[in-house]
Amino acid sequence: MRYQPCILCNGDTFFIISSRNRANENIPIVVCKNCSLVQVNPRQDEQYYENYYRKEYQQIQNADKENLLKKSLTHALRRASFLEEEIDLSNKTILDVGCSCGEFLKLVSSYAKRAVGIEPDKTFAEYGRNHYELDIFSGSLKKYINTCGTERFDIVTLFTVIEHVHSPLSFLRHARKVLKENGLLILEFPEIFGLLKSIKDKRKLSSMFSRHHLQYFSKNTINRILKLAGFDLIKVIRPKSKYLLAIAHSKDIKNECDKSRDSLLLLLSMVLSWKIKDAVLAI
Ligand SMILES: [Zn+2]
Repeated sequence: MRYQPCILCNGDTFFIISSRNRANENIPIVVCKNCSLVQVNPRQDEQYYENYYRKEYQQIQNADKENLLKKSLTHALRRASFLEEEIDLSNKTILDVGCSCGEFLKLVSSYAKRAVGIEPDKTFAEYGRNHYELDIFSGSLKKYINTCGTERFDIVTLFTVIEHVHSPLSFLRHARKVLKENGLLILEFPEIFGLLKSIKDKRKLSSMFSRHHLQYFSKNTINRILKLAGFDLIKVIRPKSKYLLAIAHSKDIKNECDKSRDSLLLLLSMVLSWKIKDAVLAI
């Protein structure tokens, strides 16, 4: 594992808010003192996480495939009905990055102009192609851009993806490359304040930190990273207590420096007030 500067602002000073994750692994979760983004640091390199997802994570997912499919369908229904209310999809092209087996794509493909998926896991991608007759590319977003070239979409969706990505700024800049000018980016992600409020056993802060998640955005920090990547945040809603759904427009990049941040005091006071036995605060 390696220490690295903040993935959002390049800052190099942090508060440690938990020394362990939910799986009781010795993985520090920190808050950047400059921009207040909560992130895993130190962390493994990108290759490690790619291998991890290829092997271990997919084994976990495949072990209970029936339950996974049921859950995916529930999420897909919620997301599709939300999109239908917010956006006229009838003449739109949609790219769903990290589409899993393609349940969301299947639902929107009946009324969108074109629906395409990208899924790193070969088994899931194959399932979507065979069972739902979907156009799903098997691989990463970067590989898709290198392989499939220049097609631009009206809408790019990232449902519970950004928290898993090793370098989210670079990832969002790639997402911008596959989006038309003034296209829409839609992200759903677990949100730090929603997660903090949801903890049942207040002595166990570590219970909210999944071993699969590398960063925990809020409305402010997602706004900041979106601006850096070439997007303007239009709307944020809370579809579930622990999640936020953000809609952003692609825009011209003008090297703007946005200083959106959360109140460090609020964040740390939420942590401190619980007398958490496994949190180490290095103030
Ligand atoms: Zn930072």
